[in-house]
Amino acid sequence: MNAWEPVIGLEIHVQLKTRTKMFCRCELGWAEEENTRTCPVCLAHPGALPVPNRRAIEWTIRIGLALGCTIADRAIFARKNYFYPDLPKGYQISQFDLPSCVDGTFLLPGADADGDREIAIVRAHLEEDAAKTVHVGGAGGRIHGAERSLVDFNRGGTPLVEIVTGPDIRSADEARRFLQLLRQTVVELGVSDAEMEKGSLRCDANVSVRRVGETGFRTKAELKNMNSFKFVADGIDAEIARQIEIYESGGEVRQETLHYDPTSGRITPLRSKEDSDDYRYFPEPDLVPVEPDAAMVAAQRAEVGESPGARIVRLRETIGFAAASGLVTSGRDRLYDRVVAAGADPRAAANVVMNQLAQADVAPDAVDPAELAKLIEARDRMPREALLAALARAGDPGFRADDAIAGSALVDDSAALAAIIDAIIAANPGQVAAYRGGKEGLLGFFVGQVMKETGGKASPKVVNELVRARLAG
Ligand SMILES: [Zn+2]
Repeated sequence: MNAWEPVIGLEIHVQLKTRTKMFCRCELGWAEEENTRTCPVCLAHPGALPVPNRRAIEWTIRIGLALGCTIADRAIFARKNYFYPDLPKGYQISQFDLPSCVDGTFLLPGADADGDREIAIVRAHLEEDAAKTVHVGGAGGRIHGAERSLVDFNRGGTPLVEIVTGPDIRSADEARRFLQLLRQTVVELGVSDAEMEKGSLRCDANVSVRRVGETGFRTKAELKNMNSFKFVADGIDAEIARQIEIYESGGEVRQETLHYDPTSGRITPLRSKEDSDDYRYFPEPDLVPVEPDAAMVAAQRAEVGESPGARIVRLRETIGFAAASGLVTSGRDRLYDRVVAAGADPRAAANVVMNQLAQADVAPDAVDPAELAKLIEARDRMPREALLAALARAGDPGFRADDAIAGSALVDDSAALAAIIDAIIAANPGQVAAYRGGKEGLLGFFVGQVMKETGGKASPKVVNELVRARLAG
């Protein structure tokens, strides 16, 4: 029988970082005192009316354009009815059958051109976030076992864009890479912080499996609210394994909503999955349709740059997939481009920008590319510590590579080094005798002494050669 093939679609929620909420003028804040960012509209007092946030609509369109979507001439807000303590109106206002953005594609690069994937974007629509429920007294902040629950309405009404992919993702690793690139996309658009640990980027995954060669889809289960890239991948892997085991033991997968616990690795049911019929959607009577004019769409299109996927494909040619992917998903590839344009060797530039600068927490935008290119060019003529120290300062105002290079030039004057080496040999007769008697490992001891004597500024290559020659003689 054919092997099993995972079929994965993602639903991603992105909180927009507008100044105010979606339908009222309460300011957004994170980690503010509870219930201090509320008003009659977002608390659903009788008679309060929603007024849409224009910027949120513009930014939704910007996201849609970046995802290659068609922008609807007419989108409609609807009421999604359900009863839950975090939803004071008893319904959520959300675009439903006529969303602002439909039918996009997202380039997900692979290790080479054969591995490139086009992931369908079914829709991206605008809605309002629910309030935040805090469960007290239970394990891990979950409702099960909690003594009581509190509701913080500060988050309620935050503009939220939901992005839905087609069932095109074929592994947990693809899901993780898609999510990382999508995150980078919305961050670069300037519309969201998209931080999973803060909940401003949230991901649900619809997972099913089928035999390779099957054309239809089997029953899917939905994994809710995984809050790190790693947990998304781990949760999907665990769900794939669970479903395969069910089928192989003769069972049937049920349509349900599941919770993945990253500490135990266990998957537990939350509830049986609702169908859209259960929500009794109908058009929101208090809001007019969203009908963006051509100028507004054009203005948003002008804010969309080269996509992260396209940049990985472009850089992959020169520096390989891993380095290209690392640079782009960390938002450091623009500095890399500028440093290479200033004449640096591409592989060395990728390594320095990805590793040393990141470790030293140097902000890419603060770096003068020409100065960094000079430093990279001089990297083999500088002692390692001096190079690392100079790289750590590469973002300082007025940083000059020439000063750092001149101040740390390696001593490779053989005559000067020879005198130092002779003095060290004379001072350590015991070690010299032992070395000459066959303990060749002592070479490192002598080299170390010379490096110490020169304050680390000697060229290790030259010192090695000189010490070896002196001890042989
Ligand atoms: Zn409000």
